[in-house]
Amino acid sequence: MSNVLPRKTFAIISHPDAGKTTLTEKVLLLGGGIRSAGTVKGKKSGKFATSDWMEIEKQRGISVTSSVMQLHYKDVQINILDTPGHEDFSEDTYRTLTAVDTAVMVIDSVKGIEAQTLKLFKVCRMRGIPILTFINKLDREGKEPLDLLAEIEETLEMETYPMNWPIGMGKRLSGIYSIPDDTVEVYNEDHERTVIPYKEATQLADHERETLEEEIMLLEEAGNEFTMEKVQNGELTPVFFGSALSSFGVQSFLDQFVKLAAEPQPRRASGELVAPDNKDFSGFVFKIQANMNPNHRDRIAFLRVCSGSFERGMEVVLSRTGKKMKLNQSSSFFASERETVDAAMPGDIVGLYDSGNFKVGDTICTGQDRIQYEEMPQFPPEKFAKITAKNALKHKQYHKGIEQLVQEGTIQLYKTPYFEDYIIGAVGDLQFQVFEYRMKNEYNVDIEFSYMSHELARWVTKGELKDNMTDSRKMLVEDQQKRPVLLFENEFALRWFQDKNPDLQLATGWDIL
Ligand code: GDP
Repeated sequence: MSNVLPRKTFAIISHPDAGKTTLTEKVLLLGGGIRSAGTVKGKKSGKFATSDWMEIEKQRGISVTSSVMQLHYKDVQINILDTPGHEDFSEDTYRTLTAVDTAVMVIDSVKGIEAQTLKLFKVCRMRGIPILTFINKLDREGKEPLDLLAEIEETLEMETYPMNWPIGMGKRLSGIYSIPDDTVEVYNEDHERTVIPYKEATQLADHERETLEEEIMLLEEAGNEFTMEKVQNGELTPVFFGSALSSFGVQSFLDQFVKLAAEPQPRRASGELVAPDNKDFSGFVFKIQANMNPNHRDRIAFLRVCSGSFERGMEVVLSRTGKKMKLNQSSSFFASERETVDAAMPGDIVGLYDSGNFKVGDTICTGQDRIQYEEMPQFPPEKFAKITAKNALKHKQYHKGIEQLVQEGTIQLYKTPYFEDYIIGAVGDLQFQVFEYRMKNEYNVDIEFSYMSHELARWVTKGELKDNMTDSRKMLVEDQQKRPVLLFENEFALRWFQDKNPDLQLATGWDIL
């Protein structure tokens, strides 16, 4: 294919309110990005009641298209995958990160690294993908820049390398100094972008120059060595300071982003690395979005293209079953740009209308060999509930619904070895709500929830299990693959248990792929 722009596919990892939406909007503006469905994120209303679900999904039905955004900047096609905010936090948020090649970590300079950033970071770390850091809200009185770097290094065990350096902050903010360019981006109230050589920045006061020069010298002496290799392996994060709201430092960030972010890399499938330029098409489904309209059981499977090229109407094989499928005219595909896409390249995301063929983690491909991309990791659940059908006579639909929804990746399923109870696990409340809604609307089963106070899961990977493993503080269950899992109420209960049972080896989920 000619005239194909290189792809840079990324998602933002951040804690709510750090400025993800604002930064995304500013980046889209710079690239003349395509923003379908009105806004990047429509609602900002916090928690919603289950009864609002239908309405929310209606909105989301539209916003599905905007969960992948595209822009062209400096001869690069940038694909941005939206990661839902706090109230929507679910396994989908984690799964989205398996489909990107780079993550941009947005940190609020006042708050530093927050809980959700840390969780999302773990997924990126697991995959060793490059992480670029944007420290936001420089127009506010935040933590000292050096302290922020130390916090990243200590908390995330990742080297940092500042690409620019703030001159003041909050009310005293007067600019940011670009380390590679030796220029200053001057901060002014009207948000006009002004970049001048450092030597000519006469507006800087003597004490500002002194502090800046001292800090830059310190960074040169005590800072890390920059190599592209460390960036690409996720061992070192280039750090940018700025203020998304004031569009300050955003363009400088984007200019470097197109250089530093990774292009689609070879990915492991069936034990071998598959290069993006492999002539055979392949891709994997990382997310399935149900259409909440009960009259249509259609779902949308989000496919990350990994190799070859995707064309509308092509015949592919679903690796898990060997089933041939024609992605024909009656199926519609879309990316953000148009309702339908006719072709897509490695790094791109396409939505496939699905009537129930796909499972999260599925590979589809063409060519002689049926390859299978690596399984989705086990994401450790933090919320658990015992469930039963309100009407015991509906046990058939109940089991069918659970089976299908678990297969789609809506929820995780556990069983107690002693009782017939099902326990469902999730990383976010939203998953429970979706599960409840869909069980009722698609399978006509009302579910009774009994929420549990446990919030930690540990897989027992080594050691002898005893009979009395379940008590008021912990519970022994089995996961879908019949692996033993202990659920603990809190860290204290876990530590107490570990002290008493030093021979048992416990894994967090992240570490058992
Ligand atoms: P998200 O939850 O991470 O998507 O965060 P938003 O982009 O919605 O921003 C959260 C809040 O922080 C909003 O009120 C923004 O206007 C504000 N905000 C974003 N960037 C900045 C910034 O650079 N400076 C200041 N002072 N506020 C910001």
